[in-house]
Amino acid sequence: MFRRVLADHFLRSETEVSHVTFVVLLLMLWLVLAVALLVARHGRLLHELWREPMIERPVLIVESDDWGPGPAEDARILREITGILARIRDRDGHPAVMTLGVVLGIPDAAAILASGGAEYTRRTLAETEFTPVVDAIRGGCVAGVFALQRHGLEHFWPQVLIARLREDDALRAWLGDPLMRSETLPAEIQSRWVDAARLPSRALPSDDIERAVREETELFRRIFGEAPEVAVPNTFVWDETVERAWAASGVRCVVTPGCRFEQRREGGGLAAATRRIRNGQRGAGGMTYVVRNDYFEPIRGHRAERVWQAVARRSAQARPTLLETHRESFIDGPDRVRMALEELESALRGAQSRHPDLCFMSTAELARHLADPASRLLARRLPVRIRVWLCRLRAELASARLLKATGLMLPLRATEWGLGILTRQRVVRLDQT
Ligand SMILES: [Zn+2]
Repeated sequence: MFRRVLADHFLRSETEVSHVTFVVLLLMLWLVLAVALLVARHGRLLHELWREPMIERPVLIVESDDWGPGPAEDARILREITGILARIRDRDGHPAVMTLGVVLGIPDAAAILASGGAEYTRRTLAETEFTPVVDAIRGGCVAGVFALQRHGLEHFWPQVLIARLREDDALRAWLGDPLMRSETLPAEIQSRWVDAARLPSRALPSDDIERAVREETELFRRIFGEAPEVAVPNTFVWDETVERAWAASGVRCVVTPGCRFEQRREGGGLAAATRRIRNGQRGAGGMTYVVRNDYFEPIRGHRAERVWQAVARRSAQARPTLLETHRESFIDGPDRVRMALEELESALRGAQSRHPDLCFMSTAELARHLADPASRLLARRLPVRIRVWLCRLRAELASARLLKATGLMLPLRATEWGLGILTRQRVVRLDQT
């Protein structure tokens, strides 16, 4: 059949037809072998990328951590952030959202020193001194621009702090600083959910973890009226025991960096990740995982352009863009704070002008969409899903190397391009039923 079409319409001699047939067969053989190799080497990855939820509209969430007890100046900055976010609205009228990973307590230095460093005592956001911060956080929540997330009753495990105080001069100096920012603690001590009194760290007793999670939940309810359903593990070190305790206390979603770390090694660095995590994957107690996939830390020189590039890249992969940032980017002296706030506004407005259908929502809402197969946010059309799948495949380092080596990258890009034309973005409204 193929030979007859060639002979009738394009080529004159039998030899020419035979040559073309041979080349076509060779190309088909190459394609089959290359795809077989891809499936053999990366079958599991192909399956994971297909199963990971694909979203129809770009989503952008700014995820900021470490807010908690602090001076009234923090409250002023939180109110400024509220004002900026409230002025930026998506097509459905929802304001830009910044999640706040809230730490409820800090050490009571005077009481700890009075006990000779033997007993841990805390100060919490419930104290009147911190009312301005609590009021600013509440104000942002009422305006719909802040969404609270759990980030530990403290940003450390109290007994670890006490144990390390005895032998660590720098830690004693930190305790003597009236500002006492958790961001300046040694990294391994910031990992609340492991015993880093000695390194390598060890797992904490499960009873202690459960008690600590209950205590944090109760204090959250007392201060804010409810306990958040999203948890952000401090320094992304946690284990299944912590996850189960969270689940028992109403947590439904864990924010991850795309993997789980469970230990601090000798020297304090993170031990190798114990598992790979993708958006929408389920953890202990039915927990939904979400993945923070980029950074916006003005204090480290990140500018709005970085955010625009991140949103373009993640949206092509039909993934939400979750930007990690920290309080320290917004409390670093008047000039740097001004610059950080301007970059934040520019990042959000620029992302919106580049993606007019961009959605703003909290991480808790995103997790609900990812866990609901009927959600309007999720892409179901087969050509869209195939295009996104191919795009994700190209973005994975391991498979990209094979795609380049086998020459599969070219037909894959061509297919993606063709499907892109066929499946031009359609308007999806999330608030319709
Ligand atoms: Zn933190």
